[in-house]
Amino acid sequence: MTDLNWSRRRFLVTATTSATASIFLKGCLGNPPDSVTGTTSSPAAAVVSAVKAGEEPEVTTATLGFIPIVEAAPLVIAKEKGFFAKYGMPDVEVALQASWGAARDNVKVGSGGGGIDGGQWQMPMPYLISEGIITDNTKVPMYVLCQLNTHGNGIALANKHKGKGLGLNLQGKANVFNQLKASGTRFKAAYTFPRANQDLWIRYWLAAGGIDPDTDAELLTVPSSQTVADMKRGAMDAFSTGDPWPYRIVSDGSGFLAALTAEMWKDHPEEYLAIRKDWVDKNPKATKALLKGVMEAQQWCDDFNNRQELATILAQRKYFSVPENVLLNPLMGKYNMGERTIDDRSLAPLYWKDSKGSVSYPYKSHDLWFLTESVRWGFLPKDTLTNAKALIDSVNREDIWKEAAKEAGIAAADIPTSTSRGVEEFFDGIKFDPENPQAYLDSLKIKKV
Ligand code: CA
Repeated sequence: MTDLNWSRRRFLVTATTSATASIFLKGCLGNPPDSVTGTTSSPAAAVVSAVKAGEEPEVTTATLGFIPIVEAAPLVIAKEKGFFAKYGMPDVEVALQASWGAARDNVKVGSGGGGIDGGQWQMPMPYLISEGIITDNTKVPMYVLCQLNTHGNGIALANKHKGKGLGLNLQGKANVFNQLKASGTRFKAAYTFPRANQDLWIRYWLAAGGIDPDTDAELLTVPSSQTVADMKRGAMDAFSTGDPWPYRIVSDGSGFLAALTAEMWKDHPEEYLAIRKDWVDKNPKATKALLKGVMEAQQWCDDFNNRQELATILAQRKYFSVPENVLLNPLMGKYNMGERTIDDRSLAPLYWKDSKGSVSYPYKSHDLWFLTESVRWGFLPKDTLTNAKALIDSVNREDIWKEAAKEAGIAAADIPTSTSRGVEEFFDGIKFDPENPQAYLDSLKIKKV
């Protein structure tokens, strides 16, 4: 990219702040190298700028990390379809992260140190990073800005467990786990990062069936590629992760799916966009521009007519590097579970709306569930709940989401009026009332608190 091109782009960004719409033709302006992924941005479609006077972002770039699972789709699409550019952020980099641990380390150093400003996170990672719990006691304050998706995760089991009736409900199946325990090798289940969604989903599933995840099973962190290999050779019993990995295990013939997280908790919160507080505080307009781009991408992703194209884009080597067909089926709500099939779009990954309303809006009541569940398993001290409101208020910036939604012209009906989605119900009949998290903890038989 030459300086001339750079100046021209800056000029266009500035020039489009007038009421007159201009056209960004990224292909003509040179494609900036993507320093983190080492790839080159592909030319986006011509995008009409929607930057209004007074909303011009302070910067045109941000570096947002992603993990190659369907949760990343809104970030990839905002980049690829030019929605970041449309709101004055043409130079945003979506940067492939080698692992959740790498993402955490990269956000700790920030983009100034060659890392990332923020990006895609499992919950409650932004809280654990803000509090220094997973960053060697170095507090790196983060803001949760929007939810990226609901659903899109599952629990895969190794083929050796086929025919044992292990599905969504494990009631009456304790013998499978007890036999393994008696033989000296407990049921072994993996996730790719501890104390976050995947860990919490598999723990919920086991405990709902009367299986204590800490004493009747062995849960451990394993990179997804290693887990697939271990499943194939029978060394691993289960694997909790995001699409397309659970589905891929079935299509590769190395396992089957016990449950989709969408079956465990319909319309459950999944992954989020969170960015370093210092970046957001310094770039409030750019933050809203990013949010507007993501919101538009989420609406695009949610249209099932776009999902073939979504699969094609995500399958590319620079993004997920997987066969397109293992992405398309889950995106369409079609899951070959191995022992049964699911064909239900309401259980597919959803990005903008689900049957409970907004997906994109980050409900504080969901953050409270993640903190409560962390207390349940002893990941966070019990007094976390006493101080939860102040903690959530300091990290969850649903107020910025609302401002961005209004600027983007989102219909008032699609902007939640309460920070709580209300009482949540799980597949086993357990209820979580955000007004009384203690009652939820009291109702659970298996817990460490
Ligand atoms: Ca996930």
